[in-house]
Amino acid sequence: MSSMPDPTILVVGSGNAGFCAALSAAESGIPGSSILLIDKCPEDWAGGNSYFTAGAFRATHDGLTDILPIVNNVDAQTAAHIDLPAYTESEFLSDLKRVTEGRSSPDLGAVLVGESNAAVKWLHALGVRFQLSFNRQAYRVNGRFKFWGGLCLKTQDGGKGLISDLSAAAKQRGIRVHFSTALTSITTDPSTGRITGARVQHATGREDALSCTALVLAAGGFEANPRLRAQYLGPGWDLAHVRGTPYNTGECLSLCLDALHARSAGHWSGCHSVAWDAASPPASGNRSVSNEFTKSGYPLGVMLNAHGRRFVDEGIDFRNFTYAKFGRAILEQDGGVAFQVWDKKGAGMLREEEYRADVVERITADSIDELAAKCAAKGLQSEERFVETIRAFNEAVYAFREENPEVVFDPAVKDGLGTRFAKRGLEIPKSNWARALDEPPFLAVKVTCGITFTFGGLAVRPDTAGVVSETTGREVEGLFCAGEMVGGLFYGNYPGGSGLTSGTVFGRRAGRAAAELVKRSGEGGKGTTQAKI
Ligand SMILES: Cc1cc2nc3c(=O)[nH]c(=O)nc-3n(C[C@H](O)[C@H](O)[C@H](O)COP(=O)(O)OP(=O)(O)OC[C@H]3O[C@@H](n4cnc5c(N)ncnc54)[C@H](O)[C@@H]3O)c2cc1C
Repeated sequence: MSSMPDPTILVVGSGNAGFCAALSAAESGIPGSSILLIDKCPEDWAGGNSYFTAGAFRATHDGLTDILPIVNNVDAQTAAHIDLPAYTESEFLSDLKRVTEGRSSPDLGAVLVGESNAAVKWLHALGVRFQLSFNRQAYRVNGRFKFWGGLCLKTQDGGKGLISDLSAAAKQRGIRVHFSTALTSITTDPSTGRITGARVQHATGREDALSCTALVLAAGGFEANPRLRAQYLGPGWDLAHVRGTPYNTGECLSLCLDALHARSAGHWSGCHSVAWDAASPPASGNRSVSNEFTKSGYPLGVMLNAHGRRFVDEGIDFRNFTYAKFGRAILEQDGGVAFQVWDKKGAGMLREEEYRADVVERITADSIDELAAKCAAKGLQSEERFVETIRAFNEAVYAFREENPEVVFDPAVKDGLGTRFAKRGLEIPKSNWARALDEPPFLAVKVTCGITFTFGGLAVRPDTAGVVSETTGREVEGLFCAGEMVGGLFYGNYPGGSGLTSGTVFGRRAGRAAAELVKRSGEGGKGTTQAKI
C-alpha cells in the first residue's frame, strides 16, 4: 500500500527533459496534480545535468527577426549591429550528420531538427527566459557582432535559470515534484507487457509502490557511474572527471534493458567529454562553479600533452563541433592531462568565465622556456619537447603567412589561417586560426577530460518517444523516454547545444503521447490529493 497518492503519469528526472515531459502532459489536458515528477537527488541537486549547462539551445531560425521576439537582452540599437545569418534545417541536419560521421538516426534527426525552432518558442511561452549568446557564440569584428557556428540562443543564467524557470512553470500548473525519491523498479502487466506502475525508494529507505498509466523516463545517462563508464566506454574512463550531477548513474537504462527487454540504441562506447580543469573535483561538478570548469579556448592557441607534443588539430572546426570529442583525446594522453597554451594575442581573447584567475590556475611566463619550466612543476615531463613543439609551430605559421599573405585571422569564420606550407607542414596541422605564439606574456592552463553525458541509450519511436521492445519490436505500452536516455542521435561527437534541444523536443513528444494514452484509457484524474512525504 502506497503512502504517496498514485499519479496518472510518473516522470523520472528533474532535468530539462523531465520537466518538458511533465509540462507537455499538463498542456495536453492532464491535471498537474495527476502528474508526479520524481528525482532521486536531494532538492539541493535539482535539475540534473541540465542545471550545469550553459543553457545553449541549438535551433533552426530565419535570422535575427525570427529570434528577437524570444530574447530579452537585445535593444534596437544593439540589434542594428548584429550579423545573425539564418540557420536552416538543412544546415542543422548537415552539422548533425557531419559530426556524427553519418551515423545519427535520420528519423530522430529529422524530428530534432524539424521541431527545434518550435521547441524553443514553446519554452519561451512557458516562461523560459532566452538571450542571444554574445559572449560564447559571437565575435566582435569591425564593430559588428558576428554569430558563428549555428548556435545563438542561451537561457538567462544558463542551466540555473532554465531549471528555475521550468520549476516555476511546473509549480504554476500544480505538477507534484518530489526529490530524494529514486525509481528502483518498473511493474508491468504480465499478460500484455504494458506499464502498470513503479517502485520508488526514498532517502529514508522507505519504499512505495506506485501505480501509473504512463511512465516517462528522463533519468540521464551513466556518466556518473565509474563502473559502467569503464565497462562501456573503455579502460581509463573510470578516471574521467564528472562535469555535472553525480546522480546520473544509469540504473534506469539498465532497468529497461534488463528487466523490460527494451531495445538499446546508439553509441554505447561514445560520450560527450571536454577539456576540463584538471583541478576540478573528480566525482561531480560543483554547483556554483558549474560550467566554468570548461576550458574551450584551445582554437585560439595550442594543446600539448605531458610529453610536450600536440595531439589534435585545435582549429579543425569551430569549437562547437570539436569540444565534445577533445575530452576523449585528452584522456588518451599520458596521465589523462594536457596543457593549453596561448600568447598575449590568444590569451586576450579567452572568455572570462572560463579563464579568469579565480576560476582556474593560470600558469604565466615571459618566455616559452620559462613557461615550460613552470609547467614542468605541474606535471609536464619534457620541457625541451614543449619548447621545440612551439618553435616548430611558430615556424609553420610564419611560412604559411609568407605564402598566403591574403589570408587574415578571423575567429568568426573558418579563416583558413593554417600551418601547411609548400615545402612542409606540421605532422598535426592547425587548420584555422593559427597564429604564432610569439608575444609575451604566455599563458598555460592544465586540463583533463571531463565527461558530460553518454551516448548509448534506448531505441524510441520518433513520433511518440515511446520505448521500443526488443522482443516485440513495438512500443512498450505506457513507457516513454527523453533526454540523455534516448539512443541513436549522437555518435562520437555532437553539435553543441543539441542536448537540451533534444530533451525539449522528445520530452514534449513523450508528455503529449503519455497524455494521449491516459485519455484513451480514461485514467485522467488520479492523484488529485497532495502527497504527504
Ligand atoms: C557542464 C555541462 C554543460 C552542458 N552544457 C550544455 C549546453 O549548454 N547545451 C546543451 O544542449 N547541453 C549541454 N550539456 C548537456 C546537457 O546537460 C544534457 O544533454 C541535458 O541536460 C540532459 O537533460 P536530461 O533531462 O536528459 O538529464 P538531466 O538533466 O541530467 O536529468 C536527469 C535527472 O535524473 C535523475 N535520476 C537519475 N536516476 C534516477 C532514478 N533512478 N530515480 C529518480 N531520478 C533519477 C538525476 O538525479 C537527474 O537529476 C551540458 C552538460 C554539462 C554537464
